[in-house]
Amino acid sequence: MSEITIAIDGFSSCGKSTLAKELANKLNYIYVDSGAMYRAVTLHLINTGILKDGHFIKEQVLNELNDIEIRFEYNRDQKKSETYLNGENIEKDIRTLAISKQVSAISAIGEVRTKLVKIQQDLGQMGGVIMDGRDIGTVVFPHAEVKLFMTADNDIRAQRRYLELIDKGECISLEDVKKSIARRDYLDMNREIAPLSKAEDAIEIDNSELSEEDQLELALKIINEKKLALQTAN
Ligand code: C5P
Repeated sequence: MSEITIAIDGFSSCGKSTLAKELANKLNYIYVDSGAMYRAVTLHLINTGILKDGHFIKEQVLNELNDIEIRFEYNRDQKKSETYLNGENIEKDIRTLAISKQVSAISAIGEVRTKLVKIQQDLGQMGGVIMDGRDIGTVVFPHAEVKLFMTADNDIRAQRRYLELIDKGECISLEDVKKSIARRDYLDMNREIAPLSKAEDAIEIDNSELSEEDQLELALKIINEKKLALQTAN
């Protein structure tokens, strides 16, 4: 049987990418972090001075889109895929709080989404792909064989993200992390184009009380059952 497509969507800081990376390693699938692409566009717009403190002129953003080239490259030493913007490795630069605060305004622009969705669909056209994001099961791969929708308790998500940021040397309080996550979820859920939503046929995983191992085991069970059902049907 040819390899399937696995779409993982959900709220911010829900552990989507952790699960997606582990699944990709286990199944020998390609992992694509679609959020990294929206972060890369945001970084480019900041670097070019078009995006300042969350403000931008839409026309300038649209004019810049053709000059943005995003790709992923696998780092064998780190055993992970890294994001490149116009030939430069920007993996670390896109994980900052400054990018997280501004990315939802940029990801709400239709033309930005059209450009990135096309790249995402091209990357996934052969199957054997796990992609995480906000609209993967609804828009990018509406026919994905497995769709997971991740949730977790707000306080638990904030605590996890807070520890990550502190670890990276960012100076922020837990309360501010909580507010920032809530704001990003609100913007992502309420934008006009491709808002964050659970596909009708997605299976929800609430990982508030799950360890990484439990979560991986559960997802693998869902995937294997689906593969078996597809094999039986053929
Ligand atoms: O997944 P991550 O938190 O890195 O995503 C950053 C932002 O990119 C999200 O808050 C959202 O605004 C945007 N995004 C999106 N659609 C996706 C993936 C991410 O709009 N498929």
